[in-house]
Amino acid sequence: KVEDKENKKQREILRSPIVCILGHVDTGKTTLLDKLRGTNVQGGEAGGITQQIGATYFPSQNIAVEIEKCNQHYPAELKAPGLLVIDTPGHESFSNLRTRGSSLCDFAILVIDLMHGLEQQTLESLNLLKMRKTPFVIALNKIDRTYDWKTEEFASSYISFKNQSKENKNDFNHRYNQIITQLAENSFNAALYWDNPDPKTYFPIVPTSGVTGEGIPDLLSVVIKYTSMYMKSRMVVKQDAFNCTVMEVKKIDGLGVTIDAILVDGTIRQDDKIVLLGFNGPIKTKIRALLTPYPMKEIRVKAEYEHHNFIHASMGIKISAPDLEEAVAGSQLYLANTNDEEQTAIDLVMSDYNQVKKKVKLVNIGVGVAASTLGSLEALLDFLEKKKIPVSYVSVGPVSKDSITKALKSVLADDPKKRKQEYACMLVFDVKILPDAQKYAEENGVKILTANIIYHLQDQYVKYVQECEEERKKEEGKFAVFPCLIKPLQFFNKSEPIIMGVDIERGTLKPGTQVCLFNHTKLKIGVVESIEINKKSIPFAKKETGSVAIRIGCTSNILAGRHFTQKDYLVSIINRRSIDALEEHYKDEVTKDEWLFIKEKLKPFFKIL
Ligand code: GDP
Repeated sequence: KVEDKENKKQREILRSPIVCILGHVDTGKTTLLDKLRGTNVQGGEAGGITQQIGATYFPSQNIAVEIEKCNQHYPAELKAPGLLVIDTPGHESFSNLRTRGSSLCDFAILVIDLMHGLEQQTLESLNLLKMRKTPFVIALNKIDRTYDWKTEEFASSYISFKNQSKENKNDFNHRYNQIITQLAENSFNAALYWDNPDPKTYFPIVPTSGVTGEGIPDLLSVVIKYTSMYMKSRMVVKQDAFNCTVMEVKKIDGLGVTIDAILVDGTIRQDDKIVLLGFNGPIKTKIRALLTPYPMKEIRVKAEYEHHNFIHASMGIKISAPDLEEAVAGSQLYLANTNDEEQTAIDLVMSDYNQVKKKVKLVNIGVGVAASTLGSLEALLDFLEKKKIPVSYVSVGPVSKDSITKALKSVLADDPKKRKQEYACMLVFDVKILPDAQKYAEENGVKILTANIIYHLQDQYVKYVQECEEERKKEEGKFAVFPCLIKPLQFFNKSEPIIMGVDIERGTLKPGTQVCLFNHTKLKIGVVESIEINKKSIPFAKKETGSVAIRIGCTSNILAGRHFTQKDYLVSIINRRSIDALEEHYKDEVTKDEWLFIKEKLKPFFKIL
C-alpha cells in the first residue's frame, strides 16, 4: 500500500535533469564543477549539495539561492527536485555515454576558454552534442583573465559586466566576437544568454570564472530555464519507465565488486533482479545492496554508504551484487524481475553491444581494438571508420593472449616478412594488458598501443603506420630507381673509379643508381657512388642542381673517353621491379615529367611491358 502511494506520487513528479560538462583539456571544467559545489558553503546553507556516485546532486533549495541573483534580468524557476551533474568531465567514455540511443545527459555545459577559443576537443564535443541532439549552454570561462577585470565573487556575470571598465569591455568583446565567428564557421549560432535573439536557434553563452565563481548563478539559471521550459516532457517521470547506465565497475573493501550507475529514469529497489553487459555476454544477478554515499553533513555516521530500499531517478547509485567482476562500463542496466523481463533484457543488452560493434565492418586483416567501456569503444570505432583503418576484432575489457590471437589471426598467419605490419597492432584504450598478452605480443612482433585519451591513441597509430611505411621503404625502396638522363661534360678520372663532371638533363640522380650507355649497346658503366658539388656530397641531383661531379664504381674495365664520350648519354637502369618499388614508395616524389620519361624513353629502351 505504501508503495502504491509512492508510485502515484512518482507519476506526478519531475525527475532531476542530468547535466554533463565537456570541453577541451584545461578549459576549467574541474574548477567550475568545484566552484559549483562550493556554492552551498558560500550561500550559507547547511549540507544540501551531495556528492553522488560519479555525480553531484544539487537540491532545488540550493539552486534557488543562486538563481535568485539573476531574477531581475533573467527569471528562471526550478520545477524539478534538483540537478544531477555528472562528475567526470571531459572523459570520452562518459561524454559519449548513451541510454538507448540518446544521450545520457539531458543537457550539457560546453566549456570554452575565452583566452584560447575553439580547440580540438571543443570541436569534437560540439560534434558529439550535435549527433546526440543534446541541448547545451556554452560557459565562456576565465573572464577574470580579461584586461583589468574587477572581481565580485560568485556574482552574476551579467551584473559583474556592468561594473567593468570600457577597456575591459573592449577586450572581452574582441575575444567574444572571435569565438562567435569560429562557432559560426562550424555552423553553430550562439549569443550571450541575456542578449539572445532567438533562444530556439542560438545557443546561449554564459561568461564564467571558475576562479571567482562569477557566472555560476547565470549558468544555473540558463540550465534551469532550458530544462524546465524546453524539455519539460522529457523530465516527467513516466509510469513504468526505467533507464539506468553503468558508469564504473569498482572493487570496494567489504562489498566486493560493485557498479556505479546513473539512474536516469524510474525506480530501482533492493532485491531487484538485473541484467547488464559483461565481457563474455550478459550478466544476470540480484541486487544485494543499493547504496549512496552519506550526505556530507552526516559526519557522525561511520559507514561510508547509506543503504536504501529503493531509489528514484535521477540519482548516482552504487549497486553491490554477485557476479559483477566482468561488468562493462557504459552498458545499460535492465530490470529482470520476471522471466519475460529477463529474456527481453538479455536481448536488449546484446543488441546494445552489437549496435556499437556494427559501427565498423570487421575484416580479416585489420587492427584489433580493446576498450574499457562501450562509450569509449564507440568513440574509437568512429575514429577508425573515419580514417578508413580496417578492424578485425573488437572487445571490451582486459587484453589477453587469447584476444590478440583471435584479433590478429589472419595477419599473424602471414609470413612475417610479407605481412602488413601496420595491422599487426592492438589499439588499447584504458584497459589492462595481461602479462601473457604482453609476452605473446613481444614474441610475435605485435605492436600494442595504449592510451587513456582517444586522440593520443589516434596520434600513436598514425605515427606507427609512418614507422612501418619507412621501414618498408628502407627494405623495398632499395629496389627503387629514379629515372635519370646524364650528360658527361668533363673526365677527371677516366678509369675505375670514373670521376667526371656531368649535367642532369632529365629526372633525378641518386647515389646507388646503376647506369648504362643510352645507345644501342646499352653498355653497363657501373654504380654511381657519390654526387658532389664543390667537394661536398649531396643526396640527389636534378637539372636545377646544375653541373655536379659524380664518382662511378665500375665492375669491368670501362674507360671514359674510350667506351663513351661527351657526345653520349648515360641513363639509370630500370626494370619492372624498380618501377613497382618507385610507384609503391616514392609516388609523391616522382614528378610528372619523370613518369613521362620512364614511359616514353626508358620503358621502350629496356623493353619493359
Ligand atoms: P579541465 O582540464 O578542463 O578540468 O581544467 P581545470 O579545471 O583543471 O583548469 C585548468 C587550469 O585553468 C587550472 O590551472 C585552473 O586553475 C585554471 N582555471 C580554471 N578556470 C579558470 C578561470 O576561470 N580563471 C582562471 N584565471 N583560471 C582558471
